[in-house]
This record gives sequence, structure tokens and C-alpha cells, in this order.
Amino acid sequence: MTQTTAPEAAPLLPPLAVGDYVVMEHFLTLQGEGAFAGTPAYFIRLGGCDVGCHWCDVKDSWHANWPVLSADALADAAAATGVRHAVITGGEPTLHDLGPLAAALRARGLRAHLETSGTNPLGAAELDWVTFSPKKFKAPLPEYYAKADELKVIVHNRHDLVWAEGHAAQVRPSCLRLLQPEWYTPESAQWVVAYCLSHPTWRMSVQTHKHLNIP
Ligand code: SF4
Repeated sequence: MTQTTAPEAAPLLPPLAVGDYVVMEHFLTLQGEGAFAGTPAYFIRLGGCDVGCHWCDVKDSWHANWPVLSADALADAAAATGVRHAVITGGEPTLHDLGPLAAALRARGLRAHLETSGTNPLGAAELDWVTFSPKKFKAPLPEYYAKADELKVIVHNRHDLVWAEGHAAQVRPSCLRLLQPEWYTPESAQWVVAYCLSHPTWRMSVQTHKHLNIP
């Protein structure tokens, strides 16, 4: 079911017990984007999103009509694959209390990575890598600038390149700065190539999984 109404107009999450999550899907694949592109990883896509990007390619993740699974069940499934990386994504995963899930993954020897727009507090969740991808459609919380290991800005139009600099100025010096073309705007790839060549503090992130036609 593809949701087309704004996330704010829909109930985002049902009442959940601590350590339970609304899960759209969880699967083994290669990380397609960012610094860990090509790394085998177990993806956990949580339901619910409060951002509402008009170009979103996973609009089904916006609603919460997905199965509820426990942190232990998800971590067991991830560990059973033998991979060392798990990626918690969404939707907007910070709508959930990520502490129990991150702890369950790390207790099984997996690195717990997060991909977020940073719109909700992270709380006490201990993570091994935070991909912070702010969106124009809902402002991120300031706490994410200090927590980001990589800043990933999606480039849908040329102004996004200017907008990206405002966020890059606020992250830590060690934070990677990534520009990623928006998939359905093919010309954005050339904008990003040209920008990275003339602004070499930036790197290009390519959605390799889409080029490979894998999840
Ligand atoms: Fe889609 Fe992610 Fe934007 Fe939510 S934050 S609307 S899941 S691209």
C-alpha cells in the first residue's frame, strides 16, 4: 500500500512495548550508499516517517501498518546471516526508541549503523555509525550535527548544493561530507560530479544498489 498523504496527517506509530518495533522489512543485502558502500549488511527498515519528502522512493514506509517485531528477534535474524553490519533505516527510524535495538545488535557482535533525517531525539541509543541526511521538508534537531559520522545530502535541484553547505558548516571536522544525486532526477548526477570536483571537501555518494537492481 503506497501512502500519498502527508505523514503528519496519519497516526505515525501505535503504542509499542519497550524493545518492540514496527518493521516494514528486514533483509540481507549490500550497503549501497555512503562510506560503507559494498559492505554486506543486514537492513532493518522501521515503519513510520514524519518527514515527507515528495521524491521519497519508499513511501510505503511512511505508515505503521507493518508487523511488530522485537529487538531480539531482529538481532537474531541479523546475526544468523553472519554479517558484521546492521543498518537501521526507515521511514524515519528515530520515531522509535532505538536503544534496545542497537544494544541487541551490538550484543551479538554487529555494528549498529543508523540512517536518519535527525527529526527526533536519539536518546541513549549507542550506535557505531550515524548517517545524518537532513531534509528540507522537516528541520533536523541540532544534536545530530555533533553525532553524525557522515553527512549525506540528497541533491534534487541546484539549490540543494547551497543548502548542503549550511549543514556541512555545522558537523564535526571528521564527519564525511557526501552529496548524493536524487535517483529520479538524472541531471543531478552531473551537478554533483561538477560540484565535488570544484569543492573537494565533498564526496559523491552513488546509489549503487539501484544500479545493481538489488534491494
Ligand atoms: Fe522517504 Fe526518508 Fe524522506 Fe521519510 S525521510 S519521506 S523515508 S526519503
